[in-house]
Amino acid sequence: MAVEQHVDHVIVTCKAQSYKAKNIIIATPPVLASKIHYTPQLPVKRAKLLQSMIMGAVIKVHLAYNKPFWRHQKLNGAVVATDRAVSVVFDQSPQNESHGVLLGLIEGDYAVELSALDADTRRKRVIADYVYYFGHQAAHPLEYVEQDWLTEEWSQGGYVAHMPPGAMTTYGDCIREPFDRIHWAGTETATEWTGYLDGALQSGIRAAKEVINKQAI
Ligand SMILES: Cc1cc2nc3c(=O)[nH]c(=O)nc-3n(C[C@H](O)[C@H](O)[C@H](O)COP(=O)(O)OP(=O)(O)OC[C@H]3O[C@@H](n4cnc5c(N)ncnc54)[C@H](O)[C@@H]3O)c2cc1C
Repeated sequence: MAVEQHVDHVIVTCKAQSYKAKNIIIATPPVLASKIHYTPQLPVKRAKLLQSMIMGAVIKVHLAYNKPFWRHQKLNGAVVATDRAVSVVFDQSPQNESHGVLLGLIEGDYAVELSALDADTRRKRVIADYVYYFGHQAAHPLEYVEQDWLTEEWSQGGYVAHMPPGAMTTYGDCIREPFDRIHWAGTETATEWTGYLDGALQSGIRAAKEVINKQAI
C-alpha cells in the first residue's frame, strides 16, 4: 500500500485501486502503518515511533462442552495462572446453559512458543491445561476454536502495541501529531483505555474532529 501526499489532496493506492481524499486517517496497528510506503517520507520521529511500537503476543481459544460442568462443582470457570500456557480462562457459556464454553488466553512467551507448534500439538497443550484446571471432564471438548493473533496478517499480534523503554520519551510526543494530510488514530493513540475498544473509539472521534476542524478553517 502507498500513501502519496500532494499540496491539496492525498492518493492512497492499494492492490485493487487508488483513492483520492483531502485528508486521511490511518487507524491500523503501528506495525502495519510502518509498512505503508509514504511519499514524501514520514518525519523521522513518526517513522521511528511506528517501528518502535511492537505488538504483544496472544492466542485466544474457545473450548465447548455439552454443559458448563464446572458450575455444578461450584467452580466459576475463572483461572489466572503464571506457570502454564493458558494463563487466563473465563466462563463464556450462554445464560441458558444449553452448552458450556471456556474461553482461554495464551499470552507473551507462551503464545510465541505455542504459535510455532503444529495445530494438533498446540491443541493438546491447551487441553492439558484445561484438564489441570477443571479435571478429566475438560479432556474432550465438543469443539475447539483458536485464533492465533501472531499469525493474523492485519494485526500481527495483540492485545495491543506497546513501547519498549525509551520509545515514549524519545518519540512519544508525536503520537497524535498529524503529518500534513495524514491523521493518526487507533487504540495506541488514545489518551484513555489505550489497548481497548474504548480507546479505539476515543481515538477515532479525536482524529475525525481534527479533520473536520481543519476543513472548517
Ligand atoms: C485476543 C484479544 C482480546 C481482546 N479483548 C479485549 C476486550 O475484552 N476488551 C477490549 O476493550 N479490548 C480487547 N482487545 C483489544 C481490542 O481488540 C483492540 O484494542 C481494538 O481492536 C483496537 O482497535 P483499533 O481500531 O485500534 O485496531 P484494530 O481493531 O486492529 O483495527 C485495525 C484495522 O486495520 C486493518 N488494517 C491493518 N493494516 C491495514 C492496511 N495496510 N490497510 C487497510 N487496513 C488495514 C485491520 O484489518 C483492522 O481491521 C482484545 C484484543 C485481542 C487480540
